[in-house]
Formats: sequence, structure tokens, C-alpha cells
Amino acid sequence: MEDFIRDDIIEQTLDRARNPEPSRVRDVIGKALELQGLTPGEAAVLLQCEDPELTGEILEAAHRVKLEIYGNRLVIFAPLYISNYCSNNCLYCGFRRDNTELKRRSLTLEEIADEVMALEREGHKRILMLCGEHPGMSPLDYFIEAIETVYATTTEKGGEIRRINVEIAPMSVEDFRRLKAAKIGTYVLFQETYHHETYRRMHPVGPKADFLWRLTAQDRAMQAGIDDVGIGALFGLYDYKYEVIGLLHHALHLDETYGVGPHTISVPRLEPALNAPAAIQPPSPVSDDDFKKLVAVIRLSVPYTGMILSTREPAELRSVVFDLGISQISAGSRTNPGGYRKGDSNDFRAAQFNLGDTRTLDEVIYDITQRGHIPSFCTACYRLGRVGKNFMDLAKPGLIQKYCRTNAILTFAEYLADYASPETKKAGDALVDRLVAETEEKAMRELLEERVQAVRGGAHDLYI
Ligand code: SAM
Ligand code: SF4
Repeated sequence: MEDFIRDDIIEQTLDRARNPEPSRVRDVIGKALELQGLTPGEAAVLLQCEDPELTGEILEAAHRVKLEIYGNRLVIFAPLYISNYCSNNCLYCGFRRDNTELKRRSLTLEEIADEVMALEREGHKRILMLCGEHPGMSPLDYFIEAIETVYATTTEKGGEIRRINVEIAPMSVEDFRRLKAAKIGTYVLFQETYHHETYRRMHPVGPKADFLWRLTAQDRAMQAGIDDVGIGALFGLYDYKYEVIGLLHHALHLDETYGVGPHTISVPRLEPALNAPAAIQPPSPVSDDDFKKLVAVIRLSVPYTGMILSTREPAELRSVVFDLGISQISAGSRTNPGGYRKGDSNDFRAAQFNLGDTRTLDEVIYDITQRGHIPSFCTACYRLGRVGKNFMDLAKPGLIQKYCRTNAILTFAEYLADYASPETKKAGDALVDRLVAETEEKAMRELLEERVQAVRGGAHDLYI
């Protein structure tokens, strides 16, 4: 496949948009508010705007778009790391081959089941499963067995993982078909940087040194029939404005080629990691203000694409960017394989990177409900076949908002009944009651009243 990322074109796009007139910035904001998305050139105008007042207007517009399309829901998941062996040597990652101080392990299937039980007993229903790239220690056969183990592991009170998204190294179309057959949700992969020269420097050896093989992974996944794919850039490796335009080109490429863009865009930012020089001193650090702006510009540019924020970021900043366009968040995370079982913490000597938000799931849920968000553990769309283009066709006329709000309320009520601390339960139940009462459509309100009562009486897994 051809390389569809052209450094010269991205640079020209950014150059042409330098020092934009305020009227031009406001025109672009106006277009974004119509929910039609933005071209890379228009996104560049917003990225190049350095005026604090206009930047405030960009953030405000992103907040409006987020509310209009997603409401104030936040879908919750946890990462599950099953192996930290890796044959690559990415200069920013604690799992890199040359980090001889890292405590390496690949979990056995029994250990994976233990991790899953710990996650279920916290209340998780969705996970993102990951590992390093190592043909000997984490081959695809092992990964597929791990998926089967996760789905088969259940606990009391309806504890089960209902959706597994995966984030693993690129593979052939044939192997992607096997992954699809294992019933994964979204296939996620970050390009790390869209800047070829920086990519070459950061990935000196191993299979990951091949920029194009990585760039075209989502294509092969889609050719293999995987409907939902996620993209992302690791912010801090190269100029953040360049990376945003790179992400938009990637999204456009998928949309133009397969009739549907990426399901999600992730916005990880570099965190310190053991013996990882590029993580300890990021080559192009991104300030908190720039981070807010980049989240807002992505939200305005691809309004129907979910945006994921992990626990790399500290709690305070997380709560600000939730409002600017984030729709999915991880919570209560560990990045060291085996980290969820009782007694283990995010052991820096086995972890991929440091965490900025180390709160438990219950603490995060309490905090976000206090800030007016609705936590959602919903997995309905994928199980009902509302995926890929089908999902987007429903999302655009606003239908998804109706399903998602209802399912968020039901899955949140289930979490509160089964796992919440007394304080979270009290605050959460009050929020659920208020949301049900505020439901405008009478038939939907009555359905919700009835189902919330059923959930409180012990029913599980209700969704529409
Ligand atoms: N090994 C596979 C890969 O590289 O795609 C699977 C995913 S890897 C475990 C998850 C992601 O973590 C990487 O794609 C990278 O963007 C991110 N990551 C690595 N080191 C990081 C760091 N120091 N801070 C923040 N994110 C990091
Ligand atoms: Fe390995 Fe992925 Fe870490 Fe690179 S980012 S060293 S491929 S685990």
C-alpha cells in the first residue's frame, strides 16, 4: 500500500494557516458548530491560533459539540496488560528491549483469569487488552487464548467482561481475520508519530521500525472485516500541531477508502518510564494548555469519532478535557502485567509508564458524577451489530445519543447496585433518579423507570 502521509503537505498546510485573522478563526468555529467536521486546512487555522480569547472560543465550541453529540456520558474501561516482553526498542517505552532492569512476565491463562476477576469485582465490563510485541512470549495464538479466557471468566453478581478492545502490534489480513473471529470490539493502534524522520529515530530496530507496515494496520484490519478501528498519536514526540493534522489525514484516508472513518482517536501524552530516554526528556513536550487545545480541535474536526483519554493524565486535567470532547476514559488502571490482583500496585519496575491518575474506579466514578458526567459501562452497540458504517449512520442523525443515554443510565445503575461504595451509591442513585425524571419522551421515561427498578432488584445486562 502507498504511504498516504506526506510530510511536505502537512507542513505546507500548517505554514499556510500561520497567524490567522480573527474573522477566519471565527468562520472555522462557525462551520464546526454545524457538526460537519473540518478539513485539515481548517483544523490548521485553529491550531495556529495563539490568541487567548479566540482559543477560549475554540474550547467553548468543542464543549458545545461534545454535549450535542455525546451528552455528558463517559464510557469507562480498564487496560489489561498480559505481557511486557518486547522485541522492539521504542525509545519512550519501559517495555523496550534494551531495558534490562524491567521485571518481565507473560501471564499464564490462570493469572489472566485472576486479573479479570479482580477487574470484574471492581465493576469493569469493558477492557482494552494489550501486550508488547514478542513472537516468542506473546504470539497471536496466546493472545487469542487470552481473549477466550477473559470472556469465559465470570464472577458473582453478573460479573463479566462484555467487550474486549485490543491494542497489539500490526499483523497480516489473515491474522486480523483470526482476531475478528475471537470477537474483539475495536482494534486500536497508535502511529506514535506521523513524522517520518522522528518515527525512524524513535523506533530504531525490530518490526516496529517499518513506518508503512504500522500506518496501514487499520487498513488490513478493515479488509479482514473488523468494523471498528482506533487510531492515535503519542503526543510529545514531535510538534503536536503536525500530529493532529497527521491524525486527520489518517481518518480521511480510512473514510475515503472504506466509507467509514476511525471509531476512536486516542490522545496519549508521554509519561516518564523506566530507562526510556525519550519519555524522561520528551523531544517536543506538550503543555497542558496545548493539550486542551489539541483535544478541542480534534473534537471539532471529527465530531462523530469517539475520543479516548487514559490515566496517563492527572485527575485535575482529565476533568477539564472531559468537557472538551472526550467520550471514553480508562479508570483504576495498572500497566504492569498482573497489577490488578490484590496487593499489587502499578509497580514502576514492571510497568510501561507512570500513571498520572492512580485513583480507584470507585473514586473516579464518584468524582465524575460530582462534576455532572454520567459514567457508562455500555457494550450494547457492538453486541447488537451497531458497528462501523452502521454505527455512523445511526450516530449522525442523533439516534445514538438516545440509545447511549438510556444504556448509560442502566449500566451505571447496575454498577451502583453491585459495586459502588456507600458514598458513591448515594450520590449515583440520586443522579440516576434525576436523569430518569428528566427524560423527555414519555415512553422512554417509563421504560427507564421500569428497568432501573429491575436493576435495583438484581437484574443484569439490560440494554436497548
Ligand atoms: N506494543 C504495542 C504497540 O506498541 O503498539 C501495543 C501497545 S503499547 C503496549 C501501548 C502504547 O503505549 C504505545 O502505542 C505507546 O503509544 C504508549 N506508550 C509507550 N510508552 C509510553 C510512555 N512513556 N508514555 C505514554 N505512553 C506510552
Ligand atoms: Fe514494545 Fe509497544 Fe513498548 Fe514499543 S511501545 S517497546 S512496541 S510495548
